[in-house]
Amino acid sequence: MKIFVTGGAGFIGSAAIRQIFKTRSSWSVVNIDKLTYAGNLESLRSIENNPNYKFVKADICDRAKMEALFAEHKPDGIMHLAAESHVDRSIDGPGEFIQTNIFGTYTLLESARSYLSKLSDEQKKKFKFHHISTDEVYGSLGDDGFFTEETPYQPNSPYSASKASSDHLVRAWHETFKMPTVTTNCSNNYGPFHFPEKLIPLIILNAVDLKKLPVYGKGDNIRDWLFVEDHAEALLTVFERGRLGETYNVGGNNEKQNIEVVHAICDHLDQMKKRADGKSYRDLITFVADRPGHDKRYAIDASKITKELEWKPKETFETGIKKTVDWYLNNMEWCRRIQNGSYRQERLGLGV
Ligand code: NAD
Repeated sequence: MKIFVTGGAGFIGSAAIRQIFKTRSSWSVVNIDKLTYAGNLESLRSIENNPNYKFVKADICDRAKMEALFAEHKPDGIMHLAAESHVDRSIDGPGEFIQTNIFGTYTLLESARSYLSKLSDEQKKKFKFHHISTDEVYGSLGDDGFFTEETPYQPNSPYSASKASSDHLVRAWHETFKMPTVTTNCSNNYGPFHFPEKLIPLIILNAVDLKKLPVYGKGDNIRDWLFVEDHAEALLTVFERGRLGETYNVGGNNEKQNIEVVHAICDHLDQMKKRADGKSYRDLITFVADRPGHDKRYAIDASKITKELEWKPKETFETGIKKTVDWYLNNMEWCRRIQNGSYRQERLGLGV
């Protein structure tokens, strides 16, 4: 089995590749990544010398390059994760989100279609185009209810609108051109190698540096949290056994208010890395202006993937957050190298 992984130098893509080499020894992977600010090959150091792994620096919007890669490697499928992924950045500058998330997905679909047109029926049957998306396409929930695969789309941010558009393209290529697709929509991921602009790594690193811990609004927005290694296994399961044309929601069964997440991080740090002044890290919490259009609550009903494919998450939030904090404490060098780049944990996404 040879597969393309797009965005494999990113947070989830690198976790998926590490999981492949840990659990699927007969697979080989071509990682296609443009290496934007979010792409980091250091996340793949543990597998980079594996003879079944190859990295190609390329932009998924480059049609000629994508067609050439399909012709050269003749993959059995593609896991498409490359995207601009940070909501706050989509508020400050939506252009790249439209380009990569919509035009890039269209380019990959067309390149895959052109490649499939040259294959025998037997070879075509093996191929799968797995599109990785987000629960944010469904919009915001009130106090109760869950997103299911049937929930109507109602994206509210430029990021989620661009992902919703790409989901619709994938659906249309399946319906119109019989492209063998499968889509997953997952909740907020967290875990090792997460770029520190996102809530959990930002809070951990600010706390370690005794900087303020910014919490948007009242901190009462609710997200479902999914440990990235659980997500990686869900992706491989859907890629192997998901039914064509179907969508699967992937969630962690871990609804938490943002402030609860920040408290959990502070409390574990209080245990693992006591402050010299004896205070709790909770003292650093500062409430800041809310994100414009901030969705109130996301919650996932993941019963379809559990029933059909027997996947369920191994980590609870309580176990996963401890593993995550410990990983950051043990990998400060990785963090410092990222912090030495252009991103300085500044506030993004006020839309000004
Ligand atoms: P990420 O930002 O960490 O990584 C994205 C990767 O894509 C980077 O390595 C980047 O270099 C690459 N990339 C960006 N533009 C590219 C282009 N034009 N061509 C080639 N490569 C390009 O993102 P992530 O958190 O790993 O998310 C992966 C996927 O999962 C995305 O599609 C995202 O929408 C989706 N998702 C993420 C979350 C989450 O919590 N992180 C939740 C739901 C869905």
